[in-house]
Amino acid sequence: MSDELSVESRISPPSLSCPRCDNLLPASLGELKCSMCGAEVKVDHPVTKRKWREEKVGCPNCSKVLIAGVDRRPANLQCSSCEIHFELRVNRPKIEIACPSCERKLRMNVRPGKREITCPACDTEFKINF
Ligand SMILES: [Zn+2]
Ligand SMILES: [Zn+2]
Ligand SMILES: [Zn+2]
Repeated sequence: MSDELSVESRISPPSLSCPRCDNLLPASLGELKCSMCGAEVKVDHPVTKRKWREEKVGCPNCSKVLIAGVDRRPANLQCSSCEIHFELRVNRPKIEIACPSCERKLRMNVRPGKREITCPACDTEFKINF
């Protein structure tokens, strides 16, 4: 299976914080492991599962719209039209952060922990903590 044949899910699970250290948990469902303190947290969210099952996905090869039909991400799907297999990836939530110096809005993936960011517009370095 080629890496290019994958589609990002548009539905992200709820953003949850670790009950022990309060850092952001990975955006997923099931048995999650906090990347900061190693706590194991079980997350179930029937609403997300239902949305995942009913999500419409465009085939990356022939653009036919398919119903995902599975309540987990990532998931391997097969197109009913061109029969290729492709991966439906987890949604990576993005946030907008304003640069504290020039207030330019920066869009980035949410990842747990501290990050150092250099503003591409004014070169100011600043730190954020999710
Ligand atoms: Zn933790
Ligand atoms: Zn197809
Ligand atoms: Zn800036």
